[in-house]
Amino acid sequence: MRNDNVQNVRVDYQQLLRDAMDTARRLPARGRPADYIPALAAADPEAFGMALATVDGEVHGVGDWEHPFSIQSVSKLFTVALALAEGGDGIWQRVGREPSGNPFNSLVQLESEQGIPRNPFINAGALVATDRLLELTGDAAGTVRDFLRAESGNRLIATDDGVASSEARHGHRNAALAHFIASYGNLRNPVDSVLAHYYAHCAISASCRDLALAGLFLARHGLRTDGSRLLTRSEAKRVNAVLLTCGTYDAAGEFAFRVGLPGKSGVGGGVLAVLPGRGAVCVWSPGLDAAGNSVLGVAALDALTTATGWSVF
Ligand code: GLN
Repeated sequence: MRNDNVQNVRVDYQQLLRDAMDTARRLPARGRPADYIPALAAADPEAFGMALATVDGEVHGVGDWEHPFSIQSVSKLFTVALALAEGGDGIWQRVGREPSGNPFNSLVQLESEQGIPRNPFINAGALVATDRLLELTGDAAGTVRDFLRAESGNRLIATDDGVASSEARHGHRNAALAHFIASYGNLRNPVDSVLAHYYAHCAISASCRDLALAGLFLARHGLRTDGSRLLTRSEAKRVNAVLLTCGTYDAAGEFAFRVGLPGKSGVGGGVLAVLPGRGAVCVWSPGLDAAGNSVLGVAALDALTTATGWSVF
């Protein structure tokens, strides 16, 4: 089996990434950059980067792997992990862990489910996780940013204020979601503060390299880069499980089918996937499919896991 080969000999990670990139780039369909947040519409549709960080401390990358992009919903992975780390599993009283089967910004389930969002990776659930982190730390977006800086070693990681204010100006749906959740008593902070922190963590700029390094705690079953524990083994397992079932919205089934890894996408075109026990991979390509996932990003991950057998299945 191909899988056995790559376990026993020195793996040429660089070549694996190059092959995955080339396979994805040969695709005729590229998708389109998100334009409902005007500041994202300017992204270069030809940009492509891919990075892999291993639990043994190696980091490899191809293409624009060190170019910062808007991490958008990839931030939701860190928001929920940090809310768990700071406050324990009380968060699960306020947000579920089932796929929604609806677009990431949908309002429809919130009324029948009384303001408890289906999972922390759709916008409604991320607003609750942001509120929880804000309640616990006083600075949800700053906590996410500082975690990314610490894990990647990149002190330049910051919110792009232009993107955050573009989101706020066009954020009618997110504002509607937040007010609706608040009407059921499931927000502890003022709606405007929750929205400001939500936009600020979505608008963080970071590269594939930064995100692959920051995602490693999930590959290390909860351990941070400095060896300290962020999540218990069980909490890390649970975050990985919810990423697998809900991290790519109503295309999570397709993502599991093609890639077979826990993963989180964002409308900036980033996808961060976890190889439990082995490493983390981040791909960036701004063209999106109808569900809001990067077309070439998913294709490159599909190519990588198909070539190596590195999936959880
Ligand atoms: N900030 C974006 C929004 O709220 C995040 C969506 C996404 O990346 N799927 O719409």
